[in-house]
Amino acid sequence: MKNKLFIYNTLSRTKEEFQPINPKHVGLYVCGPTVYGDPHLGHTRPAITFDILFRYLKHMDYKVRYVRNITDVGHLENDADAGEDKIAKKARLEELEPMEVVQYYADRYHQFMDELNVLKPSIEPRASGHIIEQLQIIEEILNKGMAYESNGSIYFDVEKYNQSHDYGKLSGRNIEDLLSTTRELDGQSEKRNSFDFALWKKAAPEHIMRWPSKYSEGFPGWHLECSAMSAKYLGEEFDIHGGGMDLLFPHHECEIAQSTVAHGHAPARYWMHNNMITINGQKMGKSLGNFITLEEFFTGSHDYLEQAYSPMTIRFFILQAHYRSTLDFSNEALQAAQKGMERLMEGYSKLDKLIAGDASTFDVNALSDKCYAAISDDLNSPILIANLFEAIKNINNMVAGSASLTQEDLNAFKQLLKVMIEDILGLKAETGNASEGGNELLESTVNLLLNLRIEAKANKDWATADKIRNELQALGFVIKDKKDGFEWEIK
Ligand code: ZN
Repeated sequence: MKNKLFIYNTLSRTKEEFQPINPKHVGLYVCGPTVYGDPHLGHTRPAITFDILFRYLKHMDYKVRYVRNITDVGHLENDADAGEDKIAKKARLEELEPMEVVQYYADRYHQFMDELNVLKPSIEPRASGHIIEQLQIIEEILNKGMAYESNGSIYFDVEKYNQSHDYGKLSGRNIEDLLSTTRELDGQSEKRNSFDFALWKKAAPEHIMRWPSKYSEGFPGWHLECSAMSAKYLGEEFDIHGGGMDLLFPHHECEIAQSTVAHGHAPARYWMHNNMITINGQKMGKSLGNFITLEEFFTGSHDYLEQAYSPMTIRFFILQAHYRSTLDFSNEALQAAQKGMERLMEGYSKLDKLIAGDASTFDVNALSDKCYAAISDDLNSPILIANLFEAIKNINNMVAGSASLTQEDLNAFKQLLKVMIEDILGLKAETGNASEGGNELLESTVNLLLNLRIEAKANKDWATADKIRNELQALGFVIKDKKDGFEWEIK
């Protein structure tokens, strides 16, 4: 069980056993954020989904090179080939350099990902740092006759590609449907077909982010950066490509077409897509008034929110649904997640204090098998969490004296829960739970101080003993002296 992973591959539309190209190493590429606004709820699901994958692959003893890019150029409004660059627009409105906008929001993104306990990727390349690599791919595609120049811009010739390849194999669309559904947009007239996409765009005079090339002074098309950076850091063929379902078309479809022409074969073996988050059944959008940033979630400062929700509550909320299911946000759902999370972590915090018995009254191995079966079944986190609640029930029974484990089983039980809760699901106790024993560091620090106070009293150093008590009380701790020691809680 432990060394298997089954992945639902969007490309084959089946669940397949994961077989890496290299038996020891795994290459994972995930499309990261376009950094032109504050991180919001929509950013959390891909980050957390692929964090669990990254964590589990590492737990399986693979060396994982996880590349998650930052888009800092070329992502135009409405994900189209016309309109203003999202970052350049923000820079214009705020009178900043585009790279100031990028730095600010990339820093914010990292800060919030840290709070959500999302591990850092191995490499975080930026599109603007890989213009040469992108121009090289354009050259390859032009040489193979699959792109054309038009007024200094270069477009990928989708119709020609489709004659020898299957454009639409990832998203399940076909070119006839695209012909009938793609609108003619302004500025698209220089394309042969409306569904052709830009590899290079000649910059309009007012466009700030621009680089020289032999075609024109301009900038790369949005899809190209991922073809260039995945090949550079993971090789022309690598294991897993991930991203949100909103990127399936056109972004990932275009990426496959570009890489296939440039390198002579498809880029990734497995494609994984997380589903979207809706808010009370609606898509999140600025115009709908339900656009909630992570800062607003963590502070509760949005009209939609009845309270603040901690990073771990958000993380747990996301993990309670399978990554391929839709997930609907509501205050009710998040409050339920908060309760569930607290119950799980409170039970887990009791584990360290358990003492072994003479016999085992429940089967730790069977529980372990169920946990591994869940996580290796296409990262089924809701089933894994259900199994962990069964474990918490057992912990509570052990505390109550109605269940027991031998020392060997108790050790295995502790190890299993640590691996599943901390290493794979990436859940951690939050300071707010300290009074329930959730914050181990705080708990051991206060215990240390109160033990020093007992020592001081034993040495008749009343001044020190009182000082420790008074200052802890001033900080909000309630301290009770007991015959055999002390008890404390946070007011
Ligand atoms: Zn991408």
